[in-house]
Amino acid sequence: MLQESALSDLRRLVGQANVLTSPSDLEAYGRDWTRVHQAKPSVIVLPASTAEVAAVVAYCQAKQLPIVPSGGRTGLAGAAVATNGEVVLSLSRMTKIEELDEVGQTIRVEAGITTQQVQEAAKQVGLFFPLDLAAKGSCQIGGNIATNAGGVKFIRFGGMREQVLGIEVVLPSGEVLDMNTGLRKNNTGYDLRQLFIGSEGTLGIVTRATLRLTPPPRNMQVSVLAVPSFESILQILSVCGKAGVQLTAFEFFTRAAHEIVLQHALGARSPFADKSPYYVLLEVEEGAGGIDVMQPLLEQIFAADLISDAVVATSSAQFKELWGLRENITESLSKHGHIRKNDISLAIGQLAAFTAELELEVAAAPKDIQLVLFGHIGDGNLHINYVGLNKAESFADFNARARLIELRIFERLARYKGSISAEHGIGLLKKKDLHFSRSEPEVTLMRQIKQLLDPANLLNPGKIFP
Ligand SMILES: Cc1cc2nc3c(=O)[nH]c(=O)nc-3n(C[C@H](O)[C@H](O)[C@H](O)COP(=O)(O)OP(=O)(O)OC[C@H]3O[C@@H](n4cnc5c(N)ncnc54)[C@H](O)[C@@H]3O)c2cc1C
Repeated sequence: MLQESALSDLRRLVGQANVLTSPSDLEAYGRDWTRVHQAKPSVIVLPASTAEVAAVVAYCQAKQLPIVPSGGRTGLAGAAVATNGEVVLSLSRMTKIEELDEVGQTIRVEAGITTQQVQEAAKQVGLFFPLDLAAKGSCQIGGNIATNAGGVKFIRFGGMREQVLGIEVVLPSGEVLDMNTGLRKNNTGYDLRQLFIGSEGTLGIVTRATLRLTPPPRNMQVSVLAVPSFESILQILSVCGKAGVQLTAFEFFTRAAHEIVLQHALGARSPFADKSPYYVLLEVEEGAGGIDVMQPLLEQIFAADLISDAVVATSSAQFKELWGLRENITESLSKHGHIRKNDISLAIGQLAAFTAELELEVAAAPKDIQLVLFGHIGDGNLHINYVGLNKAESFADFNARARLIELRIFERLARYKGSISAEHGIGLLKKKDLHFSRSEPEVTLMRQIKQLLDPANLLNPGKIFP
């Protein structure tokens, strides 16, 4: 708990009502979606403007108070968790849309706005904001930038990095760095903006951003395919690539993931009579002039003997229902048992060999730890979930056993030069494992950058670095 004098100083900076200290607020704002660490912040501060963020940060710098920047708290790496009496600085009151430029196809927003609000604003003027993820109703643009979020449309539009034209950042000193120009072309030295994208709140607090919008994809058609083997999934991806269709999503999930969704997600039903080891959710844009590209594509995939069944959405309700089979996996898993998560990626060319090894681990896992796989496989991104089925076992005991399997998988992954975090980040959860994906010289350079910007180590301390 902070001293009363510090609390009243903070109240003076952001207003009495915007400094929260009740146990329920400390608990709610002190953690992200992970449930591994205990939340122990000393105070929650909710500034309403860049000037207030800068004032709070400068105050914390003067008093040497550590800060955890906080967005929608949907992060899956423990990067927004305050475990050590930090000041949680939440952007939740900074939600303005400042400009929507229909000609330039850009939107300038405050960083606390949710992803979904940006999507809806773009839609209202006939444009499209392509970052899309199941947490879109809660996660914030600032959090998306700080984690360089990927999401289900990555295959078509790239991740958050590709959408960010400009940002405004409050540095750990309290100085405001205005790089929010919205310029599409700007080769004037180092692109400092990129340093903050994916920095998990360790280098600066993002307060504003200018984001790229696009024309909306033409009518999207979605189908779910029942696939007999992992190799077939990759061959389907290859067929799609060669057919020249505009893929907007290429997701996969295993039978285990599918059954867990059927068990826990309200109203979920399987579109297939028979069970299949793998499923692919395929989304494509219809062709120019409304030409159906899905049907000929599926015929080609059937002819190549790559699937046992397929269902195509024929109404918007069915479109939603099929997407629900994929989007409800994360939430359903958390209802199913203890969970430990991996978010790995590989070069597409390495996926087949790696997953053959991964299948060995799935088969060898203890009966009460189920390995459930799904993910953005078209981007080489696999989510591995260790699900502890014995609810009588403590989370700590389950977690320790799951960790042993994870370490074996990470060792295999390192041999394929894969990443231990494709899109969720490192946070607290994976910092011990950074060496699996980053060399010593890379980590040293990252530490030097952190030291340069935050010499007192006050901004999100303890995150990323082992
Ligand atoms: C159901 C579900 C599905 C998900 N699907 C995906 C997915 O498909 N793809 C994907 O990439 N992620 C996914 N995620 C993870 C998560 O939604 C993303 O990481 C998201 O970008 C986090 O945004 P947030 O606002 O919730 O950030 P938070 O969780 O609040 O914070 C995440 C990190 O960003 C920092 N931060 C937050 N705001 C700021 C700011 N303004 N300035 C500086 N640092 C800041 C925090 O300190 C922390 O380090 C999913 C999560 C859930 C629960």
